[in-house]
Amino acid sequence: MKAIEFTAPETITLVDAPDAPAPGPGEATVRTHRMGICGTDLACYLGRFPFFSYPRIPGHELGLEVVAVGQGVDHVKAGDRCSLEPYVDDPQSPTSRSGHSNCCPSVEVIGVHTPGGLRQGTFNVPARKLHPGNDLSYDQLALVETLAIGFHAVERARPRAGETVLVIGAGPIGLACLEFLRLIEGVTPLVMDRVPGRLDFCRETLGIQGILAGPDAIGALEERTRGQLAEVVIDATGSPQSMSTCFDFAAFAGRVVYVGITTAELTFPHAPVFHRRELTLLASRNALPQDFDQIIGLIRAGRIDTDKWITHRLPFDQVPDGFARFTDPSTGAIKALIEIR
Ligand SMILES: [Zn+2]
Repeated sequence: MKAIEFTAPETITLVDAPDAPAPGPGEATVRTHRMGICGTDLACYLGRFPFFSYPRIPGHELGLEVVAVGQGVDHVKAGDRCSLEPYVDDPQSPTSRSGHSNCCPSVEVIGVHTPGGLRQGTFNVPARKLHPGNDLSYDQLALVETLAIGFHAVERARPRAGETVLVIGAGPIGLACLEFLRLIEGVTPLVMDRVPGRLDFCRETLGIQGILAGPDAIGALEERTRGQLAEVVIDATGSPQSMSTCFDFAAFAGRVVYVGITTAELTFPHAPVFHRRELTLLASRNALPQDFDQIIGLIRAGRIDTDKWITHRLPFDQVPDGFARFTDPSTGAIKALIEIR
């Protein structure tokens, strides 16, 4: 049985990875059918992800089949199809016990901090991290995690009817936010990005009418909102420059959510905008277990069509040669899926 390992920056190795031992109590043995490639995987490959160490098998956006379950596991069984919530927390930590398992101090992400799912053989995961969806395809299940990042960012802001929500950055995370914003009745979603092709996707595929383009984005936003600006701004760029200036787009008493990540220091003037408008700044990290179940429900109900997200496919045996091209933005990939079986 083979697995793909990131051995060093920009180095992919096909390695032997034996099947997992029998699952222990609370564990499940699984195998991967589909894996989504995301910006985190690309950053890990390039050696640009802060907490990634080599060698490591990547893969955290997974459509999985359950092969066996250990003692005490009753919400999934052999043969079930599942999505994986890859953030493994300590359920006894005060943070997890208060309902914030997504940011438990000891959280480790499968496929980032610990070995992931890009392999032909089986591996063991905590069964509580599996979210079954037997009526969904493995393609659909592999998309749930990426959608969950956007779902959680939107949940952080809790937009209400009548509010305008501006998403800055139309990469996969920004697009995931827009998927859920368009489902909230009475909310007007707007999007801004510098890449025209991404805005075309927003308009043509997601049906988002509110596109802010051109040099005077604030003027355009004022015009659309009668000078009110956006009650919610979600910055999904990860760009320190954007994250330092995005407050300018926020309405008085507005909320700003950071869902992109940067390791850079952010600086912004306090009094003239942030204080004067009494803004609320919210971080958004990972997602919660209930987010996964809600998304699976929305896909099941036909309210989210994952097919339009899948722009590229890569068979497992072509990963060593084919993976690197996804680091080039000109491939135009929204979501590339690796097909393992
Ligand atoms: Zn991801």
